[in-house]
Amino acid sequence: MHEFLREPRIGHFSMAAAAPAHLNPDTMERAMKEKDPVCGMLVEPTEAAGQRTLDGKTFYFCSPACVAKFDKAPQRYAPAAPPPPGGTG
Ligand SMILES: [Zn+2]
Repeated sequence: MHEFLREPRIGHFSMAAAAPAHLNPDTMERAMKEKDPVCGMLVEPTEAAGQRTLDGKTFYFCSPACVAKFDKAPQRYAPAAPPPPGGTG
């Protein structure tokens, strides 16, 4: 009698470990951005190229060029009085 015990070979189960990292759609953090009074773009205070304080208000600038322009005429870019309401866009 020739009996061959053949154990069933169990192949390695390569489970597809495709587990992509959870991409958070809400990665956009609401960073406090200040408006560059010279060019009008939003600037992060931490990334600002410069800053000036006028009348107790701090202004941030995107580039040294904007700082220079502001220094030449601060009141021009930082009006003390708020603009009148009901402005026509
Ligand atoms: Zn600017």
